[in-house]
Amino acid sequence: MRKLLAAGLILLSLTASLASQRRTENVLLVTLDGLRWQDVFHGADNRMMNAEHGGVKDLLATRKRFTRSDKKASREVLMPFLWQVMAKQGQLFGDPDSNAKAHICNSQKFSYPGYSELICGVVDETIASNNKFYNRNVNVLEFLNSLPAYKDRVATFSGWDVHEYIVNKPRSGIFCEVAWQPITVTTSERRKRELQRMLDHLPRYWENFSWDALTFARAKEYLEVKKPRVLYVAFGETDEWAHARRYDLYLQMMQRNDAMVRELWQWLQQDPQYKGKTSLVLTVDHGRGRTQRNWTDHSAKVDGAEEIWMAVLGPDTQALGVREDVTATQAMIASTVAALLGEDFQKIVPNAAPPLPGVVR
Ligand SMILES: [Zn+2]
Repeated sequence: MRKLLAAGLILLSLTASLASQRRTENVLLVTLDGLRWQDVFHGADNRMMNAEHGGVKDLLATRKRFTRSDKKASREVLMPFLWQVMAKQGQLFGDPDSNAKAHICNSQKFSYPGYSELICGVVDETIASNNKFYNRNVNVLEFLNSLPAYKDRVATFSGWDVHEYIVNKPRSGIFCEVAWQPITVTTSERRKRELQRMLDHLPRYWENFSWDALTFARAKEYLEVKKPRVLYVAFGETDEWAHARRYDLYLQMMQRNDAMVRELWQWLQQDPQYKGKTSLVLTVDHGRGRTQRNWTDHSAKVDGAEEIWMAVLGPDTQALGVREDVTATQAMIASTVAALLGEDFQKIVPNAAPPLPGVVR
């Protein structure tokens, strides 16, 4: 009995010390709408480097920018932050070459079901459209916002106006600004006027979706002023340009999104609240078709659109790089975000998927 007690005490103190070693106090979650794992892991796809399949306007310039001699150089030129920082200091899932596929669990293979799966940790097959209806499922951002330590310190920015409904803004109570909504939180009044003017002057190329550059700018302003503990930023131009069959612009935005994530990360690493105490989770809502014809599309009927990828970087994540021999699902993201912060999402959503394997030390 005494032995058992001693063993129990050791276990208890071990658990306590492990918990105290956990360093993540903030999480940055970023999604890139419909960015294919093929382009992420292999670099620009030569089959679409033309006018016919890729809709490439300036072939010379696009090739010069993005075509490289081998796989490693090709992917690095597109996403230097992902490959030089996240892959070296963190973990990447979804590389079939490493026997490590990542997939969505919902059967729809489009945005609302995907975003819902990744923030709610469950599949809800009643979500079968991108219409503006409030998500009935509890999401991890909402869960965190319900805890005293995170109350009113959780925010979401998205280029797409449906995100308000996906995170269920009225019920979850989290700060959420989307698409063409007025810019409300900035580092100065002057900055607010400048950004608002830009929003007003740019063309409404998409009625319910705004440019990533502006989503980025307003999220960054909010980050600097409000210092949220959990920030979710959803970029979406990659999906828009893919649907428009503009592989050149899709690749450009892939590279620009990578630069935006780097800028956010670098800002976090010079601020005392965040430095060494923040984890980054980067992923997508769905994949796309595999061929030169259907790389533009994604839906239940498109083979391959269920294949995704994700990356995690932070003080509690071992630098394992591209993970091998492991299967990951989109539904694991919700519990991963909570677990990085030392919280248990499955406590309130028992059927939520567990965290990504081996991500939280
Ligand atoms: Zn789409």
